[in-house]
Amino acid sequence: MGYKCKLCPSKAVIYMRQHRLALCSGCYVQWFAKQTQRSISEMRMLRRDERVLVAVSGGKDSLSLWYVLSELGYDAEGLYIDLGISDLGYSERSKTYAMHLADKLMRPLHIVSVSKSVGKAIPELVRRSDRSPCSLCGLIKRYIMNRFAIEGGFDVLATGHNLDDEAATLLSNVLHWQVGYLARQSPILMERDGFVRRIKPFYRFTEKETALYALLNGIAYIEDECPYSVDATTIFLKGILNQLEERMPGTKLQFYNNFLAHARELFEREQAPKVQLRQCSICSMPTAECVCAFCRAIERVGGTFVGLNVVRYEPKQCGASSQSTKAAMTAEGDDNGEQCRLA
Ligand SMILES: [Zn+2]
Ligand SMILES: [Zn+2]
Repeated sequence: MGYKCKLCPSKAVIYMRQHRLALCSGCYVQWFAKQTQRSISEMRMLRRDERVLVAVSGGKDSLSLWYVLSELGYDAEGLYIDLGISDLGYSERSKTYAMHLADKLMRPLHIVSVSKSVGKAIPELVRRSDRSPCSLCGLIKRYIMNRFAIEGGFDVLATGHNLDDEAATLLSNVLHWQVGYLARQSPILMERDGFVRRIKPFYRFTEKETALYALLNGIAYIEDECPYSVDATTIFLKGILNQLEERMPGTKLQFYNNFLAHARELFEREQAPKVQLRQCSICSMPTAECVCAFCRAIERVGGTFVGLNVVRYEPKQCGASSQSTKAAMTAEGDDNGEQCRLA
């Protein structure tokens, strides 16, 4: 690469054009943690005395997030949602990566099985549904994340959405002028009745940056995309943004940051609480309708929600034990048109 670290005499491993910053491996890892803390502090995402649940998918972003939050001293536990996708052992392999990190961090990992919670795994639910796989799966995951966070007494739910995800979502929302989504697209969504606070501490990092952080910390992760996420549009939009970035470094970060600084509030004001929430008549989670979107979707595809099926995985070094608990929780997640990303 030829660059020298800006902070010490070592050879740089990354040059970030948007920050005009070259760093060696040691300085990069420290910079990354500091930037994460900066995002958390500036947006007031999380306090030291709060319990945070990190939704981990087994991918680089969510695992890096769990790792860095632990490094920063936060009380962070993992949630892995087992979608039951057997193509190429996708779900099993993803789960193994999440368990490895639980062992490494010595923190518990909560595993929720979709098929044991609603009677059918994602592939069958998708086959029976007329929605796109990502939209159905996203709805189910958001419900489970929120419901588990609330039942488990967590203050905050953290996901690993990065700058590439957020900028592509923003571009898509702008192209279609999804004003409702634009009003709610934010790295922090405050808690309200029945909904836990949701944060995205990695919203300033690109995909490459989170991948490098995982690599330098020896975090093994699943590299495959979900076999169902053949969402050509998202990949196309990310490609367009990368082309813009190539020509005009810093565009991606400015596009998203300036939206947050100058535009989001206008949409939010415009969209001010028009809906009154009440309890879903089936699962009692908050909804604008009689029956929540999750219960409607599950009913339509012939599933039955019997409460969250949760297994608590204790890290190996602490003496292996896993206990099965059953919970009955939810979340009519608000779809911000956001990327499929558990974390
Ligand atoms: Zn250095
Ligand atoms: Zn419901």
